[in-house]
Amino acid sequence: MTQDDTGAARVPVPQRRILATEIPGPRSKELASRRERAVAHGVSSSTGVYVDDAAGAIVRDVDGNCLIDLGSGIAVTTVGHADPPVVQAVSEQVARFTHTCFMVAPYEGYVAVCEELAKVTPGDHEKRSALFNSGAEAVENAVKIARHATGRQAVAVFDHAYHGRTNLTMALTAKNFPYKDHFGPFASEIYRAPMSYPLRDPEGMTGEEAASRAIDQLSVQVGAGNLACVLIEPIQGEGGFVVPAPGFLPALASWCADHGIVFIADEIQTGFARTGAWFAVEHEGVVPDLMTTAKGMAGGMPLAAVTGRADLMDDVHPGGLGGTYGGNPVACAASLAAIRTMRELDLPAAARRIEGQARPRLESLAKQHPEIADVRGRGAMLAIELAEPTSLRPDAAAAQAVAHACHAQGVIVLTCGTWGNVVRLLPPLVIGEDLLEEGLEVLGAAIGDVLG
Ligand SMILES: *Cc1c(COP(=O)(O)O)cnc(C)c1O
Repeated sequence: MTQDDTGAARVPVPQRRILATEIPGPRSKELASRRERAVAHGVSSSTGVYVDDAAGAIVRDVDGNCLIDLGSGIAVTTVGHADPPVVQAVSEQVARFTHTCFMVAPYEGYVAVCEELAKVTPGDHEKRSALFNSGAEAVENAVKIARHATGRQAVAVFDHAYHGRTNLTMALTAKNFPYKDHFGPFASEIYRAPMSYPLRDPEGMTGEEAASRAIDQLSVQVGAGNLACVLIEPIQGEGGFVVPAPGFLPALASWCADHGIVFIADEIQTGFARTGAWFAVEHEGVVPDLMTTAKGMAGGMPLAAVTGRADLMDDVHPGGLGGTYGGNPVACAASLAAIRTMRELDLPAAARRIEGQARPRLESLAKQHPEIADVRGRGAMLAIELAEPTSLRPDAAAAQAVAHACHAQGVIVLTCGTWGNVVRLLPPLVIGEDLLEEGLEVLGAAIGDVLG
């Protein structure tokens, strides 16, 4: 048991939903008003609660409300909040040393994380990794490496893609508002191709056909010989949990292999057990040349990586990659503990169990409500898309209303999608069956209230 500011014993976070006040409660509202005058308004929050502590799949707010977390801080706390092995590893590492800079005085944790990355990522070939602080930074570096190794400049990305908020990654991201609006000029040599989006593609279009459409466009508009890399999320995250039709990813990867184009899988949201496999490309038998990871890999500590073919990675000269904080020792300790938890608890299997429990509930909701145009995703990365039933015109207002109704009832769900009309679920993979059931019931009731 830990202690709070007054030295009084803290009550452990219970694994159940508790509504102690209206949500947000008075203390959260007080913090919201302090925030108004101190925090830049460009940084926004989707819920109105301020966190006191969290454990497992529960976030407790400063008013004592205990919320079921079906968002995991955007797919980060895959091993659960305050996973005991992560807490212990972080505490021990903090007490030993917090920073020496790997580029100055290196340490074992960094090396060990890179060894783990080589083991858990697909492919038996020789691999190298470099560590960074954020997903966007990993994506930037993957592009740097692909350009250096190929001597080419052009980068292909897809409709609905999300790759981050830095200058290069804004250019790689598809959606203008809120990510790019009035933040230009953007980096050049970025080309966007059509994604496979089964709900909105012509009826019956196969993955191979969707890949041909993208490949044809890139061949004609850019030229395969000018492309350094094709960068793709195997299941799109912020873009709406779009799962490409089967065959799409393998066809793209084989076209890349035929033309010396580096195939980069952005597994920042999908990686580390989230989709029921260690990495989402495994569902399609694809072995990427380079992979970016972040979010779920370090139990909530900021850590990101580029992992890939040794010949590509090692093409870059010493000093060409790095950063002051990249692969911070505390984040590395957290990551090693989180990966151990993923193995010991078989979290890929847990993600498949979550899908087995949640998908039928979402599908039965879709039968009741024709405005639910699609139920999709894999493992513990599931979503519903809300649209007008015949025209498929996106209904962002409904998605927002559903999310707000869930928050008010103590369940954190997030929205996403190019049109903001997708409600997504990203529970910690350690969530108990009962808690998930309760969360889904609250979601079902919210959908009933909003859609009638
Ligand atoms: C979140 C995300 C990023 C950006 O990661 P940050 O850590 O927020 O910079 C990049 N790609 C994908 C697929 C993501 O989901």
